[in-house]
Amino acid sequence: MNYIILDLEWNQALSNAELVRSPVVLYGEIIQIGAVKTDENFNFIDKIKINVRPKYYTKMNPFVQKITGITETDLTAGETFPKAAERFFGWCGEEYRFITWGFDDIDVFNDNLRLYGEEKVFGRDYINLQLIFNRQTNSEHLQCALSAAAEKLEIPIEVQVHDAANDAFLTYEVLKKLDMIKGITDYSEMSAAAAVPVAKDYIENADAANMIRDRRIADMKCPVCEGEVKIREWIFGNSKSCRNLIECKEHGVFLVKLKALRVSDNNYTVTRSVYTASEEDISSYEKKLRKRAQAAERRKKEKAVKNNDKDDNV
Ligand SMILES: [Zn+2]
Repeated sequence: MNYIILDLEWNQALSNAELVRSPVVLYGEIIQIGAVKTDENFNFIDKIKINVRPKYYTKMNPFVQKITGITETDLTAGETFPKAAERFFGWCGEEYRFITWGFDDIDVFNDNLRLYGEEKVFGRDYINLQLIFNRQTNSEHLQCALSAAAEKLEIPIEVQVHDAANDAFLTYEVLKKLDMIKGITDYSEMSAAAAVPVAKDYIENADAANMIRDRRIADMKCPVCEGEVKIREWIFGNSKSCRNLIECKEHGVFLVKLKALRVSDNNYTVTRSVYTASEEDISSYEKKLRKRAQAAERRKKEKAVKNNDKDDNV
């Protein structure tokens, strides 16, 4: 079996009005496929880069252009997605397992396959290297950028990042610094414990207060058994992120994080990540909650004092 370390770049709608909603909500249309192929011991075999010509989002989104450096001229020079996908899968071979950095690529890949009526989509049988990296480097439960991970592992970055082929290769270099035998063994346990984001949505004006009012995002089930959970109070980190704890009677406590990422003007995608809560997660949540209660108490007292002063003046 081979491993295919996959990275994609995708273009996005210029406005909510231009968003393709059928047959899938097309959050990103693939414009570049990059990958590294290894054997089962992670020895390098080959790499590939395919530029793809989008069918729907044919105008380059300025945010995407800024990040990737891909121009409209590059877009028109690419292959159509069905052709690119066929060539790519031919290159992947018979037996393989995907490795990605983060959860987005597989979701976007699946959306694009569905867009063209492809039956073949990928389930959870891929490896998000970010989780292995987080565990082995004691990183926070953050969705750490690939370049930040490379930096942490002291891998020099001499190429343009956000180029699919370069990112795939950089992901491979990160992988080589990790204990992958252990990582893969731990992974089944980590993903069984639902360390995957369970929702991604395209919503407008995603400040945190809005996010948690959106039922697609705020309604939650146990990530293991899909049963009822007790949902506690949301704690806001900033206007674009917040967290909460949910508890399943059978499967314990999970940490939920919401993060909004701007994709164009007023459009955001929200990623909801659910992790098995560690003791530190729980105690840090409780601490924040206590702090918030104390602050509210203080404000109440100050108000009471002010009102008393007013009364004295009468
Ligand atoms: Zn459960």
